[in-house]
Order: sequence, then C-alpha cells, then structure tokens
Amino acid sequence: AALKRTALRIGMIPADGIGREVLPAAQMAIEALGSAIPKPTFIPLLAGWEEFQKRGKALPDETVQILKNECDGAMFGAVSSPSHKVEGYSSPIVALRKHLDLYANVRPVSSVPGQKVDKIVDMVIVRENTECLYVKREKISDLPNGGKIAIAERQITSTASERIGKMAFEIALRRGQERSESTWEGWAHAQPKVTIIHKSNVLSVTDGLFRESVRKVGEADPRYKGIKIEEQIVDSMVYRLFREPEYFDVCVAPNLYGDIISDGAAALVGSLGLVPSVNAGDDFVMGEPVHGSAPDIEGKNIANPIASIRSAALLLSSLGYYGPAARITSAVDRVLLEGKHMTPDLGGRSTTTDVTEAVLKLI
Ligand code: ATP
Ligand code: MG
Repeated sequence: AALKRTALRIGMIPADGIGREVLPAAQMAIEALGSAIPKPTFIPLLAGWEEFQKRGKALPDETVQILKNECDGAMFGAVSSPSHKVEGYSSPIVALRKHLDLYANVRPVSSVPGQKVDKIVDMVIVRENTECLYVKREKISDLPNGGKIAIAERQITSTASERIGKMAFEIALRRGQERSESTWEGWAHAQPKVTIIHKSNVLSVTDGLFRESVRKVGEADPRYKGIKIEEQIVDSMVYRLFREPEYFDVCVAPNLYGDIISDGAAALVGSLGLVPSVNAGDDFVMGEPVHGSAPDIEGKNIANPIASIRSAALLLSSLGYYGPAARITSAVDRVLLEGKHMTPDLGGRSTTTDVTEAVLKLI
C-alpha cells in the first residue's frame, strides 16, 4: 500500500509541555528524507490539557475528523494531566486510541550504541491496548461487617488477543528479515522469537484465553514457521528482564502487564528521552515518544528529541517505508555513538536544537 501513495499526509498533535519542543524534530527528520518518500504534508492539530483549559475540550471533534478523513498517519507529542480529578477532562491520547481503533502499543527498547553496556538489549514490547483491566468496570459496595469491597472486572477476548498476536508475529517476521539482510553480526537473536507474557497459573481463564489465542495465531500461519514461540509468567519475566534483558526479542502482553513491563524495560536503556512508540491499528498509526510532558524541563530547549525522532521512524516503517525509516534510525544511532551531541539527560550539554541538527545532517 505504501508504494501507491503519491503524497503523505501526517497529522501533528504536539499537545503539551515538551511535546511542542520535540515534535518539530520529528517533522524535520521526515522532511529531510526528501524524495525517498512521497511528499509529506503536515497538518497541525489541537489536543491536550492546555487546549482543555482554553476551550473546554481536550480532544476537539475537528482533530478526530481530520485524522480520520484526511491523514495517513499522525504524530503525538505529550499530554500533561492534572494530578487531581478535573470535571469533564479525560486524556486525549486514550480517547484517540479509541476513536482510531489503535489496539496495539508497540515499543522497541534497545541499548544505546556507544554506551558502555555489557548487555545488548534489543526487544520490542507489543502491548494490547483496548481491554484487560482498562475496561474500567469497577464497583465498590458496603459489606455487612461495616467494611467495603471493591471489585474490578477484567476482560479478555479471543478477537483482541488474536489481533495483537498477529501484530507481534508480523513484527517478529519483519525483524528476522531485517537481520538477515544486514551485514552486522552482533544481533542478540539469531532466530526471531515471540514471548507470550501471562499469568495463567493464577488467572487461568482470562490469561489462559490470551495465551491460547496468541499461540494459535503463531502456529496456524505457515509464514510464521521460522519464529520461535515461548511463554513466560509475568513475574518471572520481569526478573529475567532485569537480569538478562538480551534474552528477549518480541514480547506480547495483555494491557496491564504490557504497561508495567514497558516502563521497566525503558529504564534499562538510560533515558525516557530515547524511547519511541507507535499506537497502531489496522487502518491508522500514530507515533508517540514514550515520555510525558516533562514540566520540569519545559521551555528550556534541553528536551531530548531522539524519542520523538525515533517515533517518526517507527511511523514510517509502520506505513511500509522501511528504507527511509532505517535512514532516520541509523542517523540517530550514529549521533549517539559519536556522543558529541547529547542533551543533559544523557550527560551532555547540547540543546534540543543541536541534537536535532546533528541528526538531520546525517539523514
Ligand atoms: P507527565 O505527567 O506529563 O508524564 P512527568 O512529570 O511524569 O510528566 P515525564 O515526562 O514522564 O514527566 O518525565 C519523567 C522525567 O524524565 C522528568 O524528570 C523529565 O524531565 C525526564 N524526561 C522525560 N522526557 C525527557 C526528554 N525527552 N528529555 C529529557 N528528559 C526527559
Ligand atoms: Mg510521567
């Protein structure tokens, strides 16, 4: 489908805080590709906490309509959320995932080239994004003894588990191809591997269904024959993640476990400012740096733009532009390897602008 496009329309939603400072870097990285991709048009769109304070809506209808009807994909910056509950406010990113049916959150975590680490982390976490405890069916009632009881319902469906499974196997397949085409020998994983994360020793019904549904997808399609399928109970997975992160390739998990292990894995590579993600569905993709709006460094031009630039690369590869995406990724890797242009979160003194320019030059 990528090859048929003559233009690329990308919705840009900087939202709040450093989202506004790092999203331009993503745009410039895409623009720097020149004729390697169809001519991109960037459509600025509103959303966020500040937008809510100004006009009473965190996600204007117009933003959703333009994304749905006019865009091939989007980039999201970051959203600040008030620490207390505010009447009428709900997170625009959560709403966007719903509106656009972005059922997967895909987060690659890899160690920084050049950084002195004894372990090569090179994994992708594929998190289901629509169900599990996030259906938010909670209730609380009084008990006869004067105490209270709170109950949360957890939903797992075979449909959602199968589609997230399919996404994980497709990513593993693509990673296997990339490694076989590459001349670099240092890959942590010779054979692509999908690890299914669950807790079916305790939650045998819900996690049992998740695990079986994902496994079925992997076993049914002959295209996935070369992919190793493994399973790991979530607690022992976390233990292994911290001790032996190089063990993992693609991990697929229900919503809540996925949430927790993705933040844990991000901590392995040094800075939140490096970790990209995409929110993906069958019809739409939205790139988003993993970090938040970082009010503590807002407005100082020191936010690390790399998570945002890498998210742009992920967006492009999700749209089928693998070569151009790789150009962005390897430019970033070279800047990190060189170590001359680093923002303070990585121990350097460079500004957002410096790092962005260094990457653009190499693209
Ligand atoms: P939010 O509520 O929006 O998530 P937060 O206060 O939790 O805001 P985060 O954005 O989650 O802030 O960041 C956590 C810490 O990591 C902060 O100290 C922040 O400065 C730092 N950080 C996050 N992103 C970056 C970045 N791109 N560059 C440098 N430091 C970052
Ligand atoms: Mg945060």
